[in-house]
Amino acid sequence: MLAGTVSRDGAIGRTVEVGTPTDGPQSFFAELESLVEALRPDGGAAIGVGAPMNFDRRTGVGLGAVNLPLESLDVAGRLRERFGLPVGVENDGNVTALAEWRVGAGRGTTDLVALALGTGVGGGIVSDGRLFRGWAEVGHIVVEADGPPCQGNCHGRGHLEAVASGEAAERAAHALWGGDGDARRLVSEAEAGHERARAAVEQIGHYVGIAIGSLVNIFAPELVVVGGGFGVAAWGLIREPAYAAARRESVRPADETIRIVPAALGDDAGLVGAGLVGFEALDGER
Ligand SMILES: [Zn+2]
Repeated sequence: MLAGTVSRDGAIGRTVEVGTPTDGPQSFFAELESLVEALRPDGGAAIGVGAPMNFDRRTGVGLGAVNLPLESLDVAGRLRERFGLPVGVENDGNVTALAEWRVGAGRGTTDLVALALGTGVGGGIVSDGRLFRGWAEVGHIVVEADGPPCQGNCHGRGHLEAVASGEAAERAAHALWGGDGDARRLVSEAEAGHERARAAVEQIGHYVGIAIGSLVNIFAPELVVVGGGFGVAAWGLIREPAYAAARRESVRPADETIRIVPAALGDDAGLVGAGLVGFEALDGER
């Protein structure tokens, strides 16, 4: 869990990071509050939270998470009570999209899809100049019917997250090099010309493009932004296969006009977006 002070223009001040507790809501809240506590001397007008869970957009209550044992958590209510500040909460994929839209690669667009390829796959959608605040679980759209099982609490098969996440890259690396393989090595060996490593990363890019094609056909974005730790690291290798698949799957005229670009904020997008959610709460926009 990463916390930091963020200004309105997206500039990051001091940051603090701790491991994410996975043993339940008590320790999750304890860590969350200690992070805010640690940053309080730096000032702050509001608190914004991005978390890998779905939130009820009216109440701000967390409704469950794919990769964490958390359910029915009133994150905003609890932080508001404890710190007496406006609090905004949002799905982590949505905050990534918000950050890239407001201060990153998607600045100036009114329709945008953001994908974040990390441990899982997140993302968000800006439609007609507004962040879609619903369950934009873009990592859990099917890109391979009846494909491999998904991750965490997700019982789906062939979801984007199952085949195009950093975890999927880890599995591909383990298949090639056993315990010595990880996603980082997969990318660096692929860049150095290792054929099977390259094929594995390009296959991931292909799946990303398939997903982009479906998203383009529904939301008609001007721009698709690909970020996340793995997405940014592997961008040079996944760009072409992603474009090819996205063009094949997109209906006209998007098959020619679609633009796919790497995220501008890199790993900072989540923190910056959470900060912007805090400002939205301060401004009464949520
Ligand atoms: Zn899934």
